[in-house]
Amino acid sequence: MSKSEQLFNRAQQVIPGGVNSPVRAFRAVGGKPVFIERGDGSRVWDVDGKEYIDYIGSWGPLIFGHRPPEIIQALSQVLEIGTSFGAPTEREVEIAELITKLIPSVEKVRLVNSGTEATLSAIRLARGFTGRERIVKFDGCYHGHGDSLLVKAGSGVATLGLPDSPGVPASLAELTTVLPFNDPSALIQEFEARGREIACLITEPIVGNMGCVPPRGDFLSILRDVTKSSGALLIFDEVMTGFRVALGGAQEKYGIRPDLTTMGKVIGGGLPVGAYGGRADIMDRIAPAGPVYQAGTLSGNPLAVAAGLASLRRLQKENPFGRLESLGARLERGLIAAAAKAGVQIRVNRAGSMFTVFFTDRDVFDFDSAKTCDTQRFNRFFHIMLDQGIYMPPSQFEAAFISTAHTETDIDRTIDAAGKALKA
Ligand SMILES: *Cc1c(COP(=O)(O)O)cnc(C)c1O
Repeated sequence: MSKSEQLFNRAQQVIPGGVNSPVRAFRAVGGKPVFIERGDGSRVWDVDGKEYIDYIGSWGPLIFGHRPPEIIQALSQVLEIGTSFGAPTEREVEIAELITKLIPSVEKVRLVNSGTEATLSAIRLARGFTGRERIVKFDGCYHGHGDSLLVKAGSGVATLGLPDSPGVPASLAELTTVLPFNDPSALIQEFEARGREIACLITEPIVGNMGCVPPRGDFLSILRDVTKSSGALLIFDEVMTGFRVALGGAQEKYGIRPDLTTMGKVIGGGLPVGAYGGRADIMDRIAPAGPVYQAGTLSGNPLAVAAGLASLRRLQKENPFGRLESLGARLERGLIAAAAKAGVQIRVNRAGSMFTVFFTDRDVFDFDSAKTCDTQRFNRFFHIMLDQGIYMPPSQFEAAFISTAHTETDIDRTIDAAGKALKA
């Protein structure tokens, strides 16, 4: 028995499903998860010593790959002075100043410990600010596992085949309207019918959680218009796209100014961080400036903030988004050519260094079209890639990520492996 299998057996005795987050268990693709021992640059090694080119990157945070020197150095400096104080520190001011500079719609920002905490805090704030209760989200978008948001919530939930989750009160879920992504007429209809009840519309500006699905045409500017005219707040959930698709996130790429933005993943440089921010008049409703309560024992934790600050500073200095785009384009071209050669129908959706290979002959622009995929075919592809040392997300409905540590050689090796996996 491999060491991974032994560990998974032990884990299942003491951890529900053997994992601390569902997708890690490989339920969608079958088989058993590999346990990771270490990572370096674009590579990870499992506990049995097998090497992989990593396209998960901890599900998005690792834009520089594993163990970038700036982050290691920043963390070791903090270890010298103390890991938590529960009191304000200078680095928190520095990271807030940097975030507000890089994302101009974010005039004030509050740090939390995860993306989930960021989105549920932003929703509470939107409700508290507007005095309204209804929220609108899109089918297949994932905004963390908060109760109001765990309704038609994409990848993790879709993979497990749960339309939503037991434990979410029906009376709360009723306050969440779910609409199809990229469908302006459904959106306009909902806002005409109930616009005055809606506290906020929350969306991933580029969806990553039904696989990668970019917005079509002027969809995001329609979101901006309908929310503005009904007095609802527009929340961009940039937990995945923030500092990933551009220095200023998807809102910079598409030129849209949301009222609130949620962040996570890259902003923590691989440590647990989330953040939410936006218009100062709204953010000033948060305690202790205002009456909407939100707090955190470890919020603004020195280790997490140091890692985040080191990441954002390196992004600002290097602006690697051109290089990430060209690596992404190279991989996309190679995968499409390999599929054509193998006679397999795929669609590659990509936004810079975020991408998904969908096994379908139809364009994927919302969750219904994503569900046309041949998931069996994807699962076979996934396992053959894994055997060849290419570590892709273990679900058809997740985005994969390229880091600045990936090289052209890594990309070409991946294309070769995909050629074999597509033929099989
Ligand atoms: C990952 C993700 C979240 C949740 O973040 P956690 O840190 O896992 O709680 C929320 N929204 C989006 C868009 C995400 O990709």
